[in-house]
Amino acid sequence: MSALHPAGAWQPYACDPQHSGGRRLHESPAPTRSEYQRDRDRIVHCTAFRRLVYKTQVFLNHEGDLFRTRLTHSLEVAQLGRSIARSLGLNEDLVEAIALAHDLGHTPFGHAGQDALNDCLQAVDPHSGGFEHNLQSLRVVDSLEERYPHFDGLNLTLETREGILKHCSGPAAARLEAREPNGVAHRFVARLRPGLEAQLCNLADEIAYNAHDVDDGVRSGLLKLEQLDEVPLFARHKAESLAAHPGLRGKRLLFESIRRMLSAQVYDVLDASAAAIAQHGPRSVADVRRAPPLICFSAQMAADSVELKRFLRHNLYRHPQVVATTDRAKQVVRELFAIYRAAPQEWIPPGESRTAGLRQLADYIAGMTDRYALREHERLTGRRLFD
Ligand code: MG
Repeated sequence: MSALHPAGAWQPYACDPQHSGGRRLHESPAPTRSEYQRDRDRIVHCTAFRRLVYKTQVFLNHEGDLFRTRLTHSLEVAQLGRSIARSLGLNEDLVEAIALAHDLGHTPFGHAGQDALNDCLQAVDPHSGGFEHNLQSLRVVDSLEERYPHFDGLNLTLETREGILKHCSGPAAARLEAREPNGVAHRFVARLRPGLEAQLCNLADEIAYNAHDVDDGVRSGLLKLEQLDEVPLFARHKAESLAAHPGLRGKRLLFESIRRMLSAQVYDVLDASAAAIAQHGPRSVADVRRAPPLICFSAQMAADSVELKRFLRHNLYRHPQVVATTDRAKQVVRELFAIYRAAPQEWIPPGESRTAGLRQLADYIAGMTDRYALREHERLTGRRLFD
């Protein structure tokens, strides 16, 4: 291992809560918690966070109790992120805050729900900006949560918000920058990198879903363990598992192979990132922003990871059974959108002063859990698309 730092020993390239870009509305510091700890705590207590438990990752929430949901996925990203952050001397609290919030903007039914909602918005108004889950995650923490007396949203620090907004199109970045100059979208306009904690969450997200989708895919029966022999990264760790534990079979072999694959990826990120940091020698977050991405896989692991993703895309995400389910899920979102649009009283209770605009409707649908969306769909159409 090239660089290991004792817990809590932040390096000069880590984000420091004492030098945070701050909150949009000034608040006095908390007596016992750093600003990033406070961000994490606000996220854990917010409504959108609790909804993640009933939102789809790949498998619809009602298909089985043991598959990942957005909540358990986010916890896994936080775990991987924290352990890498500790070894690299980054700010663990910030990593945890970003990881727990990164998927707050997801619609019900995963990417299928997002695509359907985006299509609905674009069809009605091509200038609406459509729907994109990263922007929506930011919207949740910036304006949709209603918990505080003096502001909408959670009033998080700039660093946490920047980590949440991991991708952003040019037009969306320009809109955000106009509203908040030098703010959350500035890096996209100025072509700078975010802090290392945000970079790390991106990679931890990828490591987490690649591994847990293999696990859920095999346990669902849609993937066969033997099929994974065509994925070099998995095959290598399965062979290692069998060499260390001859005769290991079934789910223990699956879990042991995944565990080894996860460890190998974590150690690879530690080594490759430590080397990139040593090469570019950032001495501050400002240096990090100007440098190329520093939290990375080695070239070999990056290629292996692409291979694994390709396998999952072909064999799991495009599995006929998954596609059939996601097609019906898209239909649920499309029909809800059409019905609510024609009859705002179905989603805005009488006496409530909410505006029935397109964006508000998108927020409402995006906030639904899988099961709430299915229940609403059945109530409004009298049809049941899933058993
Ligand atoms: Mg994610």
